[in-house]
Amino acid sequence: MSAARQQADVRSHRLDDADLARNFGDLHPPLGRSEALIAADPSYFCVDAPCTTACPTDIDIPGFIQKIRSDNLRGSAHTILGENIMGGMCARVCPTEVLCEEACVRNTHEEKPVAIGLLQRYATDPVFADGTQLFSRAPASGKKVAVVGGGPAGLSCAHRLAVLGHDVVVFNRDEKPGGLNEYGIAAYKTIDDFAQKEIAWILSIGGIELRNNQALGRDFTLEQLRDEYDAVFLGLGLATTNALGLDHEDLPGVNDAIEYIAEIRQTDELADLPVGRRVVVVGGGMTAIDIAVQSKRLGAETVDIVYRRGPQQMGASQYEQDLAQTSGVSIHHWASPIELLGDKHVDTVRFARTEFDGNGQLKTSGDEFELTADTVFKAIGQALDTHPLDGQGLNLEAGRIVVNDSGKTSLDDVWAGGDCVLGGDDLTVTAVQHGKLAAIDIDRQLREGE
Ligand SMILES: Cc1cc2nc3c(=O)[nH]c(=O)nc-3n(C[C@H](O)[C@H](O)[C@H](O)COP(=O)(O)OP(=O)(O)OC[C@H]3O[C@@H](n4cnc5c(N)ncnc54)[C@H](O)[C@@H]3O)c2cc1C
Ligand code: SF4
Repeated sequence: MSAARQQADVRSHRLDDADLARNFGDLHPPLGRSEALIAADPSYFCVDAPCTTACPTDIDIPGFIQKIRSDNLRGSAHTILGENIMGGMCARVCPTEVLCEEACVRNTHEEKPVAIGLLQRYATDPVFADGTQLFSRAPASGKKVAVVGGGPAGLSCAHRLAVLGHDVVVFNRDEKPGGLNEYGIAAYKTIDDFAQKEIAWILSIGGIELRNNQALGRDFTLEQLRDEYDAVFLGLGLATTNALGLDHEDLPGVNDAIEYIAEIRQTDELADLPVGRRVVVVGGGMTAIDIAVQSKRLGAETVDIVYRRGPQQMGASQYEQDLAQTSGVSIHHWASPIELLGDKHVDTVRFARTEFDGNGQLKTSGDEFELTADTVFKAIGQALDTHPLDGQGLNLEAGRIVVNDSGKTSLDDVWAGGDCVLGGDDLTVTAVQHGKLAAIDIDRQLREGE
C-alpha cells in the first residue's frame, strides 16, 4: 500500500467557458451545400450496394445520395427516415467506420469511403429544423399498444405503430424521453438539444401519448399492460452498471461512468461539474472512451483507460480509440484492477497485468502496477434490471430477453427490442431497427386477429 496518501483533487471550473465551448462543440460539423455535393460526387450509386447491406436499418444509401445530387433534400430525407426514424441521431452517432462506410466500395488503401454519415445529416437536418412532416397515418385500427421505454427502440416502435394506424402509449421511467440519446451519448456528438428536437418531430406524427416518470415494476406490471392493451413492446435498455467486484468500491471518488455522463448531458453549466485531476477509467467499450474523452475535455490533467484485454478486443472501434488518444487519453491494455486504495477518498488503483493462457482464457501474469487517481470510473458494461420481469413468463437468457427475428418474446402479445434483448450489438441504429421490425410484426398479428 502507498505510504503517504495523496490529497484528492476534485473540483469544478478547471477550464474557462471558452475552452469548454470549444471542447464540447460539434465533433463533426455539418456540411454546407457545396461540401455536400463534393462529398456525394464519389458515390458509384452501386446496385446491391454493400453499404446498404451493412446498415442495420437497410437505408437505400445510393438512393438518398442520388437525391442530394439533384437537390431533392426532402426526398432524400424521406428515403432515410422511412427506414430509420432516428436517421438524424444515427447520422451523428453511428460508428460508420465499422458499418456503412467500412463496406463502401470506395474504401480502399488509396481512397476514402463516401462520407455517408455526414451526407445523411445534411439531408435530414432541414426536416428537424422546420418540422416538415414526411409521413401520414393509416386509418385508425382501433388497437392500442403499450410501449415500455422511451429510448431509440421504444420510440422507433411507437412511431411505426402510429404510422400503421394504431394508438400508442409510451411509458418511460426517466424524466425525459430519449433513453441514452438524451442521457448517454457523448455531449459533443449531439449538441444543441438535438435529441429532444428529434423526439418532438417523431411525436408530431400524432397517436403517441408519452408518459414520463412511469416505471414498469414500480408503477405498473407487465400483466396489467397485457390486460389493458392489444400488444406490448419492451424497450427497457440496460438499467444497471456492472460492479468491479473489489473491496472499497463505495469509496468516494469511485463512480459509475454512466451516471456522470448523464450529469454532463443534463447540466446547463459544464464548468460547475466536479472533475478529478487524475482520472482512471476501467473498461474498453464506448462508455469507457466517452467518459475518458469527456473528462479530459472538462479539464482533467491525466486520464488513463485500463482495459483487461488487447486493442482488438475492445468494444470501442479503432476510430473511437484514436479519438481518445488524440484527445490526450492514455490507453493501457492487458491489465485488470485488483485493489482500490485510499482512506476517505480513493487515491490509487492497483492493477494486475493480464494475458491469455494456452486455452485463450484470461489470466493474471503476476506483474502488478499502480496508478494514482482522484476519480475512478467504472465502465465495464451494463445489465438489464430483470426484477420487473420476474414471474411474468418471459424467456430470459444471459440476463437478456429472448426474442425471434421479428422481436417477439416467448409471450404471444409481447415484443422486445434494443439493448434489453439477447444477441444485439448495443448500438442506437440496431435499437431503431428492432423497434421498427417489432412494430411491423405487431401490426401483422393485430390485423390477422381481426
Ligand atoms: C455512454 C454510452 C455511449 C454510447 N454511445 C453510442 C454511440 O456513440 N453510438 C451508438 O450507436 N450507440 C451508442 N451507445 C449505445 C446506444 O446508446 C444504445 O444501444 C441505445 O440507446 C439502446 O436503445 P434502447 O432503446 O434499447 O435503450 P435506452 O436508450 O437505454 O432506453 C431505454 C429507455 O427505457 C426506459 N426504461 C428503463 N427501464 C424502464 C422501466 N422499468 N419502465 C419504464 N421505462 C423504463 C428508460 O427511461 C429509457 O428511456 C452508447 C451507450 C452508452 C451507455
Ligand atoms: S443509419 Fe448509420 S449505418 Fe445506416 S447508413 Fe446511416 S450512418 Fe450508416
